[in-house]
Amino acid sequence: MTTSSELNPTHNAHARSWVASANAESCDFPIQNLPFAVFRRAGSSEAFRGGVAIGDQVIDMARVAKTDCLDGLAHAAAQNCAKPVLNDFFAMGPAAWSALRHGLFELLEKAFYGPKVDALRACLIPQSEVEFTVPTQIGDYTDFYTSLDHAMNIGVMMRPDDPITSNFKWIPIAYHGRVSSIGVSGQKYRRPMGQAMAPGASAPVYAPCARLDYELELGIYIGTGNAQGEPIAIKDAEKHIFGICLLNDWSARDIQFWEMAPLGPFLGKNFCTTISPWIVTMEALAPYRQAFTRPAGDPQPLAYLDDAANKAQGAIDISLEVLLESDKLRAEGKPPARLSGTSFKHQYWTIAQMVTHHTMGGCNLKSGDLLGSGTISGPGEGQAGAMIELAYGGTRPVPLGNGETRGFLHDGDAVILRGWCEKPGHARIGFGESKGTILPAIGK
Ligand code: MN
Repeated sequence: MTTSSELNPTHNAHARSWVASANAESCDFPIQNLPFAVFRRAGSSEAFRGGVAIGDQVIDMARVAKTDCLDGLAHAAAQNCAKPVLNDFFAMGPAAWSALRHGLFELLEKAFYGPKVDALRACLIPQSEVEFTVPTQIGDYTDFYTSLDHAMNIGVMMRPDDPITSNFKWIPIAYHGRVSSIGVSGQKYRRPMGQAMAPGASAPVYAPCARLDYELELGIYIGTGNAQGEPIAIKDAEKHIFGICLLNDWSARDIQFWEMAPLGPFLGKNFCTTISPWIVTMEALAPYRQAFTRPAGDPQPLAYLDDAANKAQGAIDISLEVLLESDKLRAEGKPPARLSGTSFKHQYWTIAQMVTHHTMGGCNLKSGDLLGSGTISGPGEGQAGAMIELAYGGTRPVPLGNGETRGFLHDGDAVILRGWCEKPGHARIGFGESKGTILPAIGK
């Protein structure tokens, strides 16, 4: 079997599709991408089913499964994609994922004509006519904390004398998160109420969150799981990963900072998490892999978190940016303000290390489980993945370019995450977006 980082004909930068919109230069979904989502026609009572993006269209996998477009393993994979969640498709493993990608690629390529192409054309639905939902039944969601720059920026505020805890460079730190409040882009949620202790106060107050924030993250979907008690070795870890989406780990900083001693985040995090609907596969990400390195003088990972493949190509160069759309910007007809941009390549731990560490004590991961990468902050100015870092705890509010500023988020604000990969000699592929909007707190 080929590994997820090897290149093959589906990565050919010169490939073009007969779906004309897929060939536009700025399109997130060229033929080299082919990400997966779960969708139905907007406002309908149709069953949700799997879809694959090509240009501005969705390939309806429930329809594809009823045709003879695909053969063998690719057809069997399409049948599992026709279901309302992608867990069974994920559980088929990398050979099936790849067979479906290659089967669709061949049919979508410009050079290909015939009755199978005609049948596939009849399976296309414009993305503008559909709505999405969470693409798997997520059994468990774990949120990591793997950016050294983020840890430093936050640590300086929380523990000025000891900003980086002694475990950070040895363990991919994480907490177990909440599945029920995960929603797809377009999600709206109420500002959480909660308990917070103001600096210098002697008792906490119960009030709407006053320090509401976002976290720029990636979501990593487990493709195939492991049996309880049988850890996933690092050399096998990426075979267990299906793909990656954008993830906004909304965070109520005042609630979080009061509650998380001595245990982890709870109500500061569990009220809402917004993911992008599209999952970009590990196979599509192969051209954008990079060496994983540690800064000089830092400890090397322990042996169970280290191998040659992880060193050679454990990092992924995924460009990311955060935008904010305020009520005022919306009313003025102005575009969202860009808050920051960075790349996933700076992360201190790789996705293979996260998977291996998660299972090393015997914990079983399951198909469709979700891992959050942790906030992705780069080393430079303007590369932080959370408002609390950009605005230095609210003390230096960030300008939105229209006279407004933000120390933390206001009601009516929408936060938009975008991601894409580009590299000379390769296609540009995108993740679409994750957009979530804050409504006033209940009772306000
Ligand atoms: Mn987080």
